[in-house]
Amino acid sequence: MVHQGLKNVLNGVVAAAQAAGRSPESVTLIAVSKTFDGPEIVPVIEAGQRVFGENRVQEAKAKWPALKIGWPDIELHLIGPLQSNKAAEAVQLFDAIHTVDRPKVAEAIAKEIRRQAKPLKLFVQVNTGREPQKAGIDPDQADAFLRECRDVHGLDISGLMCIPPAEEDPKPHFILLAEIAGRNGLSQLSMGMSGDYAAAIACGATYVRVGSAIFGTRG
Ligand SMILES: *Cc1c(COP(=O)(O)O)cnc(C)c1O
Repeated sequence: MVHQGLKNVLNGVVAAAQAAGRSPESVTLIAVSKTFDGPEIVPVIEAGQRVFGENRVQEAKAKWPALKIGWPDIELHLIGPLQSNKAAEAVQLFDAIHTVDRPKVAEAIAKEIRRQAKPLKLFVQVNTGREPQKAGIDPDQADAFLRECRDVHGLDISGLMCIPPAEEDPKPHFILLAEIAGRNGLSQLSMGMSGDYAAAIACGATYVRVGSAIFGTRG
């Protein structure tokens, strides 16, 4: 079955990868389904998409267990801020968390991964624009925080994630994120949304998080 929004974005991902001289398989599309319910999500699953992103634990908990009965191979990514008191639910529900951004959250996730014996793919969120209202570790503290995640909490961090400031050219932010990842030996970059995923892929994104270009504008 064809889903036009999904098809457009998948074509866009392939085109951006090829333009950057990269293999399209090196980029994973996360379909961001926040605010959308089963009737909007099912056609995207039926069109073949298996990797989805949600930004709130409670919303994901209400929607996804029922959908996963029909499609157990779905991979769920948490892309929104995590409170440490929701770590148990998040580790149980999600396959990846993109928003590890402070010691308390790192500690809570580490404890739950051990307790539930469930491996997760983990990303540290970096506040590349140093925006006071935005989550993420300050770029200057990223190296030290990554060491702490590994040495103190025993976490295996796969990569970095950022959300550039809305009003700015995202490219310098993508480049900064790639630099921090490179010097810390991290291979995965979660960056790029509906408006800028092609630029993110040109800068090395391995995961792009795309919502409205697939599902339409959110109400
Ligand atoms: C909502 C959201 C997205 C997707 O945004 P679109 O502009 O709809 O593609 C990506 N990343 C995060 C962290 C989000 O919260």
